[in-house]
Amino acid sequence: MRGQTASLVLLLVIVLEHESESAECVTHPKVPLLTQSLRPLAFVPHIKMLTLADGKKDGKEFISMAPGYFPEIAPELWNDWKWQLKNRVTTLAQLEQHLTLSEEERAGVLLSGDKLALAITPHFFNLIERDNPDCPIRRQVIPRIEETWASPYDMADPCGEDSHMPVPGLVHRYPDRVLFLVTDRCASYCRYCTRSRVVSGVGKQELHTEFEAAFKYLEEHTEVRDVLLSGGDALLFSDAKLEKMLSRLRAIPHIEFLRIGTRVPIFLPQRITPELCAMLQKYHPLWMSIHVNHPRELTTEVRAALERLADHGIPLGNQSVLLAGVNDDLETMKTLVHKLLICRVRPYYLYQCDLINGSSHLRASVAKGIEIIEGLRGHTTGYAVPQFVIDAPGGGGKVPINPGYVLYHDQEKIVIRNYEGKIFEYPETGGDQSVQFAPQREYHDEYLYS
Ligand code: SF4
Repeated sequence: MRGQTASLVLLLVIVLEHESESAECVTHPKVPLLTQSLRPLAFVPHIKMLTLADGKKDGKEFISMAPGYFPEIAPELWNDWKWQLKNRVTTLAQLEQHLTLSEEERAGVLLSGDKLALAITPHFFNLIERDNPDCPIRRQVIPRIEETWASPYDMADPCGEDSHMPVPGLVHRYPDRVLFLVTDRCASYCRYCTRSRVVSGVGKQELHTEFEAAFKYLEEHTEVRDVLLSGGDALLFSDAKLEKMLSRLRAIPHIEFLRIGTRVPIFLPQRITPELCAMLQKYHPLWMSIHVNHPRELTTEVRAALERLADHGIPLGNQSVLLAGVNDDLETMKTLVHKLLICRVRPYYLYQCDLINGSSHLRASVAKGIEIIEGLRGHTTGYAVPQFVIDAPGGGGKVPINPGYVLYHDQEKIVIRNYEGKIFEYPETGGDQSVQFAPQREYHDEYLYS
């Protein structure tokens, strides 16, 4: 204790000695040294119980919104994931009981119901601001009239999944891995869902996964070493049903790596029970890709769920979709990626929104995505920087999109710029003719010939 006090005194002395000075900082030119010294402490998690009435809407802190719009519900029911599913908000009347809807939303709820169902878990519904039509949470889950509009680029199956299915429900697009669509149901439905043609069960197209044929295909195709369970959301299955599926996959010797793509920890953190985690732990290596778009989605309950998964050895990555009016600004994304690291989740991908039917109002520009990556790379740890990708329309797979850091490249040198815009040259070693790569020659005259 005495040692701690001495350390604190020493820190204070150092800080006070420097307090009168200012230093150059790349992002904030005149940040006092005291502030710089304290900045790392901003990442220390806070646990607070706040409600929307407290006005804490920027998502910087971990807070619980429970019981929010459901004050009469007993905690044991609230914490029961099956109660959460049974009591999802699914109708216009339920929405209007709690929220002030805009005309666009009211019309959207009435007209888009035969395309993608409306369903929001009470937990996630609590994150929605009652009177703010621009609330970044409601834009993700409450339909708007714009969903019924068709833009010239819209597609029903933008990633070309249906044309890469050797067996119904099994997408084999990349050489060594498959996407296994195990269900068409989710805890809540995202209005920009790339698989909205089949999820939720209300559209014209239905998902009819042929499980036995899929397992047989996987047993025969020894080149498949990686299976991603998605849908829909596999974590909506009972523990027993999910375990049956995982053990069947684990019995295939050449399958090295299992993944689950899920938004359940965010929509329904109550589902991440100790029993589920203990079961999942038996099937390592098992990784999980979660899906968070806005920092407010990372509540105290979600953080506890993610920590439970991490404690059971499940590596966690996050896939965000770049969405207009939700996360298409640097500060929001920066808060999100820093909170993810606190939750032990590595920001993995930032997706340019797919060209899914009725999503044009939610699509931000590619330029905005590049600007966000530019604002993260070098300005914070590389662990916090997701890879920005476009899933090439029609089934071309994920293509990484980066700010232009390579200015020139030939057999003799590469010319690069860093995050501050400074230019550097690095020599190529001996013009190795055996190296196969797609040379990136971007001729930026102002750098090379001035
Ligand atoms: S959770 Fe995933 S699959 Fe389900 S609606 Fe959202 S984006 Fe689609």
